[in-house]
Amino acid sequence: MRHQFNYRNQQLWCEKSSVAEIVKKTGTPAYLYSYFSIVDHFRQVQKAFKPVNALICFAVKSNSNIAVCRALVKAGSGCDVVSGGELIRALKAGANPKKIVYASVGKTDREIEQAVRAGILLFNVESEQELGRIDRICARLKKKQKVNLRMNPEVDPHTHHFITTGHKASKFGIDMPTVEKLLANTKRYPHLIFAGIHIHIGSQILEARPFKAAIGKALAVIARGRKNGAPIEYLNIGGGLGIIYKKEKPQKPSDYAKKVLPLLKKSGLKIILEPGRFIVGNSGILVTRVVYIKNSHGKKFAIVDAGMNDLVRPSLYGAYHEIQPVLTKPGSKKGRYDIVGPVCESGDFFAKDRTLPQLEAGDLISIFSAGAYGFVMASNYNTRPKPVEILVHGKRWDIIRKRETIDDLLRGEKIPAWLK
Ligand SMILES: *Cc1c(COP(=O)(O)O)cnc(C)c1O
Repeated sequence: MRHQFNYRNQQLWCEKSSVAEIVKKTGTPAYLYSYFSIVDHFRQVQKAFKPVNALICFAVKSNSNIAVCRALVKAGSGCDVVSGGELIRALKAGANPKKIVYASVGKTDREIEQAVRAGILLFNVESEQELGRIDRICARLKKKQKVNLRMNPEVDPHTHHFITTGHKASKFGIDMPTVEKLLANTKRYPHLIFAGIHIHIGSQILEARPFKAAIGKALAVIARGRKNGAPIEYLNIGGGLGIIYKKEKPQKPSDYAKKVLPLLKKSGLKIILEPGRFIVGNSGILVTRVVYIKNSHGKKFAIVDAGMNDLVRPSLYGAYHEIQPVLTKPGSKKGRYDIVGPVCESGDFFAKDRTLPQLEAGDLISIFSAGAYGFVMASNYNTRPKPVEILVHGKRWDIIRKRETIDDLLRGEKIPAWLK
């Protein structure tokens, strides 16, 4: 699972590169990604869904570094984007526009025009109002555009409530009765081709059942839509494949495929998937250095140089990330630590009461499973520059995003003349 991150000779390796050697040069905190892990995870999904020749569109929002996107594009991936900015990233990474799909509840006119002009494959449309917008913009540009309706299938995938998207009260997608109504009235939008249905019910989903339920509902809606004359050719089953952070037992892509392929094959539809976390989650780590060990009221705190601004998942979702020292010290005693950052918030922690080999100031530690929703959610809170990002490929490694400087952060700020 984390096959490209291994301990050998008492130290952590990413592929054939020593993590300690890399960060000696780059400093910490640092995000490190394994190229082979990224591409291998992509291929697992591709292979599992080969029987329907699915188009795999990497969810760019999970890790949008253009080098990471490039690695996937070269391996044959398309891109699932959620903003005009991500569209530019996908194009910069060399993605074929005919393999780009675009979802978001709040696409602006400018973003829609940009995507239509780029010639993307499909918009995943999230409201009736948005359909009207895209149709008007296409009329002005004299273009026809394929759209998928993002349907809310009202399925609860039993994951964290912040990352579930397919239940009734969710802001995402269009309710089923409205989808059916729209598919029966496609003529109202002369510049749009109603090419399919999109569902994405949430993230970190460990079993096939909710996916199957949602796909079943989508297929029923598609069958009725076709009867009403909608030229449906695509079913986009979204992302959401879960990964191991702690001791989860997620289905493998091949297990997932086995459960849903019979349904998908019978439909004859072109299938699209949008995995993000599964591809990059366990392909990245965040390396940080212990700055202080502090004892307070019988508790031990390891204060590290990364903070919640660099990796927010523990603070935001109470997410569990495995943590281990980069260099192992054989025979060292164990201790219980809160691993915390320097940010002025009590929510700034990576782990609580974690049993680890004894830590000292200066030790390097690795926070695992940080490749998805890690750097992309980083902020500059507390005027902290964002960390460096590194892509490892065997024995070689490259900086794929420079560490920010304070100058980068202050650029654009200005004291008005009257205050001088
Ligand atoms: C976030 C998102 C994804 C990716 O989800 P993962 O859980 O990372 O696989 C796919 N599709 C849409 C529409 C999304 O918003």
